[in-house]
Amino acid sequence: MNSSTYHSFAPRKRSYAKQTRRSPLILLLCVILCAFGAIGSIVDTFTVSTVMLESHKVVSSPHTTQKAVAYSKPHVQKPNILHPSATPAPTKTAASSIPTFNYPIFRGSTVLPEIALTFDDGPNPSYTSQILALLQKFGVKATFFDIGYLVKDYPALVLQEYRAGHIVGEHSWSHPDLTHLSVSNVRAQLSVASDAIQSAIGRRPTFFRPPYGAVNSTVMQQAKALNLSVIVWNDDPQDWSMPGVKVIIQRAIGQAHNGTIILMHDGGGNRSQTIAALPTIISTLQERGFHFVTIPQLVQDNS
Ligand code: ZN
Repeated sequence: MNSSTYHSFAPRKRSYAKQTRRSPLILLLCVILCAFGAIGSIVDTFTVSTVMLESHKVVSSPHTTQKAVAYSKPHVQKPNILHPSATPAPTKTAASSIPTFNYPIFRGSTVLPEIALTFDDGPNPSYTSQILALLQKFGVKATFFDIGYLVKDYPALVLQEYRAGHIVGEHSWSHPDLTHLSVSNVRAQLSVASDAIQSAIGRRPTFFRPPYGAVNSTVMQQAKALNLSVIVWNDDPQDWSMPGVKVIIQRAIGQAHNGTIILMHDGGGNRSQTIAALPTIISTLQERGFHFVTIPQLVQDNS
């Protein structure tokens, strides 16, 4: 992700080249219109800057930057089957008092010893059940950001996540870099994935993790329109790159502190190292006094 993502949102320069004599009434009208225009530009600039600021915090992490560049797309891009269903999806949303945020959330409270474990790129028939078993063993609730077409293929696994008390969020339909898509395609990626989750568990998700952590104003606006808060992370052990179990453990624990959101994966490739590392990560952080919470809990406790 780079700053060019936001170029189309830069305030437009106004042309003052044409100078003509105007009556006092016309001049007064121009002054009023210019004043409104200036206020609009300030608001636009503030809004975009806020997103850029928060996004920068994400991409400034060396791990995140490296991920964004080096992540080889593990997902088979499905054919263009993003046709919103002919019948409108029910508008029922998950019961939540948490508002939809206008900016990507990358951490929770810095004063509470809470950590959120998150798993992306599932559900996966080989690994998701193993991770669920480990979470149950340690009494930990986590958040799964599932890919839409995999939800459609393995709805029973998603229901298993949900019934175990974990949070099911969405991770787009087919895992593209959404900042490269048109507004309508971003909308389709998000809405069809939410539809799939609703079909699987009976509730629409309220949290969304953008593939590669890549967001721009279009992604933020479309997520907001679908009542999805955008969740990124600030602890990335890069388990997806299979650096070895010890390395995953060291990175995950080394970056953990109050309010940390840990990014791990239950799909997208061989996740045996992730599963081998998970018990030590959980037990070590629990011994250090951290509590594992879901994303909505983390967000609520920071508001
Ligand atoms: Zn992903």
